Amino acid sequence: MKKNHNDVWKSCLTIIRDNIPSTSFRTWFIPIVPIKLERNILTIQVPSAFFYEYLEEQYIDILRKTLRKELGVDAMLEYSIVVDSNTSVNSKPYTVKLPAKDNINLKGQPVSLPLSNESQIKNPFIIPGIKKVHINPQLNPEYSFKNFIEGDCNRLGRSAGYALANNPGKTAFNPLFIYGGTGLGKTHLAQAIGIEVKARYPEKTVLYVPAHKFVQQFSEATRNNNRNDFLHFYQMIDVLIIDDVHEFAGKEKSQDTFFHIFNHLHQSGKQLILTSDRPPIELTGLSKRLISRFKWGLSADLQSPDYYTRVAILKQKVYNSGIELADDIIDYIASNIDSHVRELEGALVTLIAQSTFNKKTITIELAKKIIDKIVKQTKREITIDYIQKVVCDYFEMNIDVLQSKTRKREIVQARQIAMYFSKNMTNSSLSTIGSQIGGKDHATVLHAYKTVNNLVETNKEFKSYIGDIEKKLKFY
Ligand code: ADP
Ligand code: MG
Repeated sequence: MKKNHNDVWKSCLTIIRDNIPSTSFRTWFIPIVPIKLERNILTIQVPSAFFYEYLEEQYIDILRKTLRKELGVDAMLEYSIVVDSNTSVNSKPYTVKLPAKDNINLKGQPVSLPLSNESQIKNPFIIPGIKKVHINPQLNPEYSFKNFIEGDCNRLGRSAGYALANNPGKTAFNPLFIYGGTGLGKTHLAQAIGIEVKARYPEKTVLYVPAHKFVQQFSEATRNNNRNDFLHFYQMIDVLIIDDVHEFAGKEKSQDTFFHIFNHLHQSGKQLILTSDRPPIELTGLSKRLISRFKWGLSADLQSPDYYTRVAILKQKVYNSGIELADDIIDYIASNIDSHVRELEGALVTLIAQSTFNKKTITIELAKKIIDKIVKQTKREITIDYIQKVVCDYFEMNIDVLQSKTRKREIVQARQIAMYFSKNMTNSSLSTIGSQIGGKDHATVLHAYKTVNNLVETNKEFKSYIGDIEKKLKFY
């Protein structure tokens, strides 16, 4: 009797199960659904493009072996990737063909994302026969993968970035959208990918540009009447890294131009890497069509490092700086400074500088003294006054206006936001908060608190304001 796709896949799974850890098996193989078997081609359905990439990275050998055992040396594997309608322009699943043959570099097979090759647009600016000029990629060699410590806080972004560097423009991670709070390693990771691509493919043109610089270059080009050169330049890039894309907010002309560059590069199989301080959907001030492009590939967030990652980062920085630091000192720093990596580094640098200038050896006592001082500065207590100041700065309004009796909508809202943060971030009672913010009573504060909570849940734009203000309150 002829085998069907279910039988074949079941036999494969029996072998795979015995050869990989059971947690990996559960994570990566149980969700796979065999779809069909046509001659020697088995099609399996995987839940996402990331899944596909991961299988290709980690399990292609065992897949190949088992399939060959079942279907013979001509066995072929085809993936059907379920593309979530949120992350794609077309909600139908699409398939990726992957012949399982040794002489084909399986990892090199492109995922055909919607809007791929067939509709490729020729670049009107590139003249055939002209060689690419050398472009300085603007990469800082310090920001390499070697110097980037992996932890739970950054694993997805790091592995996706690493996989992508192997195959720029040819993975489903296009664009790779890295987001997270300040000092968590977005710039470092984005640059590491660029450095890795350059190391593997020296002939590829890689370019790192902070978004604000792109905006600057664009307005200069406009002023000097050479927008075409500007476009032409960007369309030659193989791997384009734009850092801090939230800085495009409100810059409509630059966004338009970037939109065209994005499309051109994406359609030509070039790689885009973007970073931002928030996820695509929260990018207020950016055009819808640009945001929708940002969601095409993979969005990966970076979070605050946990204790072990903090220790690993410190150890590496200590090692790189050529000094020695006892483990209890490292432990002390890692336990007390827990916000972001930049602060961790800052503490270390201060410690080293103090000991060098004062010609003191770094003892745990010295470390404690210095670290406690840093912690005190950064963990300065958040007061109701301070919250009002930050909220007023954010909305560019005067603190007297905030505290006045006016019922103008924007002002009422700013006042409510100040109340909300005061309840969340201070230990003050509702009536204290009310009396300090415009002489209101505790019921008004409670109402404000509920209103803000509701708005955060229902209004994305509002939520992003709150996120911005919260960051300002925490980090500055
Ligand atoms: P962001 O761009 O998110 O504000 P950066 O990439 O500038 O953050 O990182 C801040 C500092 O922390 C940099 O010096 C960077 O090298 C360091 N850093 C961040 N994450 C890591 C990590 N995982 N391993 C080692 N160093 C890191
Ligand atoms: Mg940065």
